[in-house]
Amino acid sequence: MKATLKINLTNIRKNWEYLNKLSGKETETSAVLKANAYGLGISEIAPVLWEAGTRSFFVATFEEAIDLHKYLPKNRKIYVLNGYHEIYKSTVDSFSIIPVINSPAQLMSFLKHHSQEKVCLQLDIGMNRLGFQRHELEKFQKTIDSLNLDLIMGHLSCADEPKNPSNKSSLQYFSSRTNTWSRIRRSLSASHGILLGKQYNFQMTRPGIALYGGIRDENLLNTISVELPILQTHDLDPGDGVGYGLTFTAKRKTKVATLFGGYADGIMRSLSQKGNLYHGNEPCPILGRISMDLITVDITRLNIIPEGLTLLGKSQTINDLADMAGSIAHDVLTNLGSRFSRSYTN
Ligand SMILES: *Cc1c(COP(=O)(O)O)cnc(C)c1O
Repeated sequence: MKATLKINLTNIRKNWEYLNKLSGKETETSAVLKANAYGLGISEIAPVLWEAGTRSFFVATFEEAIDLHKYLPKNRKIYVLNGYHEIYKSTVDSFSIIPVINSPAQLMSFLKHHSQEKVCLQLDIGMNRLGFQRHELEKFQKTIDSLNLDLIMGHLSCADEPKNPSNKSSLQYFSSRTNTWSRIRRSLSASHGILLGKQYNFQMTRPGIALYGGIRDENLLNTISVELPILQTHDLDPGDGVGYGLTFTAKRKTKVATLFGGYADGIMRSLSQKGNLYHGNEPCPILGRISMDLITVDITRLNIIPEGLTLLGKSQTINDLADMAGSIAHDVLTNLGSRFSRSYTN
């Protein structure tokens, strides 16, 4: 018995279409498919997004880019976010992949091996993670001008907090620093940035998590569901414990179901004693610690023993699970399903 991650491709497509509409005609909506489309599978998702009209795709590494290349027609654009290194010089040429240049060292290395290949430049606009800092931009302005620049991008650090003043100051900095390249397309917003408003969109947006429903917004659809099979049940008397460390002790007669799925499947251990699984709308609390391959759940309130319980679905979304685990939807998705089988519906 195995758990299945069910992925709704139509809803991913609809989410992309919604984001595309939000940002207006003058803005291209790309798709971020790093980490194998946040763990959901590029082989199925990339062609669906292409069909919907996506032409530009972002991944984190050259290995991901080479993989993605297999599922898309030739006239796609694939950008590599984590930067250029000379070990990938022939990859850039053979697959026409567009590296994002994040530092002066990458700039010099790129120019040593390439002359007119398309390239993207990233500015650091406050996160201090990737991208050219202000003084580096000034120092290398001439060299940058000699590039065949396809895109200039920045990345917001606090876009998921709409009221955070750093959004406006980052926007202002990005606009003013890139005005000298006004003929070159610019990109600032990932998923949360798109929802901040049109002034954040420039000529290209880069949604990732929103495609998969990982933001609470009435127009973004849920795209995944996970049902865990029940392997066995136990009847507890008051005083009986459950799981490693016996961290749960029954106060009354309790029926415990043991289900396939544990932290090796990406069900975060921090959900121990905290989260729920669902039978329809009925919550079934997680009892005791989540173990590597198994999870124990209170089903006393159900009058049947179902075949399985829902971890993710309408009753509990990736956003609900992320909140409960004290994390974000990106984390929930990329962890899930390393061992689950995947099935796709249209
Ligand atoms: C991951 C990433 C994105 C997509 O972010 P989401 O929050 O998933 O929409 C966009 N741009 C950059 C630079 C990223 O690293």
